[in-house]
Amino acid sequence: MVIAVVGAGMIGAAAARHLAQAGHQVVLVGPPEPQDKIRHNGVFASHYDEGRITRALDPWPFWSRVSRASIARYRQIEADSRVLFFHEVGTVLAGDKTSPYITRLCDVQKQDDIPCESLQDAALASRFPFFRFGDGTLALHETQGAGYINPRALVRAQISLARKAGARFLPDTVLGLDETADGVSIRTDQGTVLVNQVLVAAGGFANSVLATPLPLTVFARTVVLMEIDTAEAARLSAMPSLIWLEPDGNDPYLLPPIRYPDGRTYLKMGGDVVDVVLPDTAATKDWFRSGGNPAVGQMLEAQVRARMPDLRIISRHVQPCVTTFTPQNIPALERLSPRLSVAVGGCGRAAKCSDELGRLGAELALGRTLPAWALDAALPN
Ligand SMILES: Cc1cc2nc3c(=O)[nH]c(=O)nc-3n(C[C@H](O)[C@H](O)[C@H](O)COP(=O)(O)OP(=O)(O)OC[C@H]3O[C@@H](n4cnc5c(N)ncnc54)[C@H](O)[C@@H]3O)c2cc1C
Repeated sequence: MVIAVVGAGMIGAAAARHLAQAGHQVVLVGPPEPQDKIRHNGVFASHYDEGRITRALDPWPFWSRVSRASIARYRQIEADSRVLFFHEVGTVLAGDKTSPYITRLCDVQKQDDIPCESLQDAALASRFPFFRFGDGTLALHETQGAGYINPRALVRAQISLARKAGARFLPDTVLGLDETADGVSIRTDQGTVLVNQVLVAAGGFANSVLATPLPLTVFARTVVLMEIDTAEAARLSAMPSLIWLEPDGNDPYLLPPIRYPDGRTYLKMGGDVVDVVLPDTAATKDWFRSGGNPAVGQMLEAQVRARMPDLRIISRHVQPCVTTFTPQNIPALERLSPRLSVAVGGCGRAAKCSDELGRLGAELALGRTLPAWALDAALPN
């Protein structure tokens, strides 16, 4: 049996690794990152970056569980692939101690006994002198198994291990799928591939591949990258990743100093407050080509300056990305027909846990039933 995974991104590359290492015949189909994004006409991805926050803590049990399962495998993936992607600098989740999200977070932390330190007031201020927190803030600090991953490097590691285990890799773009009684014919920009099973893991572009669209909502997102100099990076060398849980459900996030491929060091901040829906594939491609929304970048920079008043920024620029949501606020992990399964809808948080989501997708492609917890929606009460 040949299983094709459509989408060589975070979830797809992980699924291909799990399937290939379990001894199955695998074809992983998906294009590499475009070098000239402004003039690119093809598909894009949500992992074209150097930093994604990772943590076991989450207000929802599903996300905490898939994250912990993935984090537990990071070091093995690094050792096997010789690609380093995990930076264990710690992660802080903070918010008003009376907010429902902080209450949920504390419930999950207690229920699953997730190791972390709980900080408030003077203890919080002295632990992170570079941050300013308001009165009444509760911060949960995970010091181990948390921090950030390099998503490009993780994808590289997964593809390399999948190939080492025998997977074929086709750097092609899928145009459509035709199911027959014998198998599935995958139409790509380079030709046709015949397989027995298909797992679609094409992120924000999944509905351009599927004959019947899934109820996915794709949002335009902007991040601001703030360049700092060497002295500032040294001052912030103990900075963890930070997520601020707002009472209204917004969760702006900030990454610690990261050296980017241009040789410069940046802090990255994200967290649009206005959700802009991208209605179709054409609009999603246009958004990626647009370079991001400068007004959102200014708003994010103002938030960083309030949180870190001493921060010395020497330059800044914005970048576009997309997040893909399902109505359940967990990925769609479903078998759509006897030969077609999907693992899509990262809901803005599927980088850190992509390895476990890929494993669950692989289970579906093998015709197995997922455990009940894997369908446990993450909706506000
Ligand atoms: C700004 C931003 C910040 C984020 N921060 C975090 C964070 O801190 N922590 C975290 O855990 N998550 C974070 N996320 C979310 C995370 O990056 C995504 O959830 C994750 O990348 C989703 O993985 P995926 O495999 O579904 O999609 P992708 O990584 O986008 O991969 C999909 C793949 O499918 C391919 N593809 C698309 N169409 C086709 C086609 N027709 N044929 C073949 N291949 C195709 C693409 O090329 C791509 O490689 C963030 C997202 C954004 C946008």
